[in-house]
Amino acid sequence: MGIDRVEGSGAEATPRVVQGTEPTWRAAGQNTPAIDRTALSEFLDTLLEPRRFSDYCPNGLQAEGKSRIARVVCGVTASLALVKAAAQSGADALLVHHGWFWRGEDPRVIGPRRERLATLLAHDINLYAYHLPLDVHPDVGNNVELARRLGWPLGESFGRDGLIRMAHLEQPTEVGSLARLLQDRLGQTPLAVGDLNRPIRRLAWCTGAAQDFLQDAIDAGADAFVSGEISERTTHLARESGVVYLAAGHHATERFGVQALGQRVADAFGIEVRFIDDPNPV
Ligand SMILES: [Zn+2]
Repeated sequence: MGIDRVEGSGAEATPRVVQGTEPTWRAAGQNTPAIDRTALSEFLDTLLEPRRFSDYCPNGLQAEGKSRIARVVCGVTASLALVKAAAQSGADALLVHHGWFWRGEDPRVIGPRRERLATLLAHDINLYAYHLPLDVHPDVGNNVELARRLGWPLGESFGRDGLIRMAHLEQPTEVGSLARLLQDRLGQTPLAVGDLNRPIRRLAWCTGAAQDFLQDAIDAGADAFVSGEISERTTHLARESGVVYLAAGHHATERFGVQALGQRVADAFGIEVRFIDDPNPV
């Protein structure tokens, strides 16, 4: 089964297996350890406490596969390309931030939705997804992992479900420097709007599609707010408030939490965990 063409490169591309610069994944061996599905479910649910959240999707085991798990593939979104890549690499479980069964979505199993599900079930792969619980987790969450990758202080969480973080920078920074840092570490050019001359001392951020938390960041006294996506209305609010908004990419800002979580699983059980990136320009 082939890997889908991935947007952006224009050429036939394969989701990238990230190794080397990422946490050191254990190599698969002859006697690769395996664990029960229930043990992995309990470990993840204990760490991430999904019951504390009212989310837009079910968190935890979303689709049941084989009962023994020796190899886990983690990734940002359970796209068809990622499901196929997981199947090709012999995964017993796929662990993602963006799973399936979103609130308000057409639930019928037809078209692309059928193909994703059919591919997963055909390979007997367990699908685990953690959305908000993985954004906010204080050790392995997307927000703290993004801060670590960018060399920011971890700051304090605030807002609904603690989804936003804010840090005071010891040295104020300029918008241009912040944009270059994001470009350098995330490999994607951010879009900055608002007062681009404003020195940034109080920096707020929330990974993903959190552009509508800009008002919360303004209310909390932020000089700049970094998230993934941007809407038309975001520009006007940034301009009129004088606060800087930087859209650094939804996928780009959410690649790190699931890798930290995967590393936790590898450390806890000694099973093989591998991150596969299915790049997304948004
Ligand atoms: Zn997201």
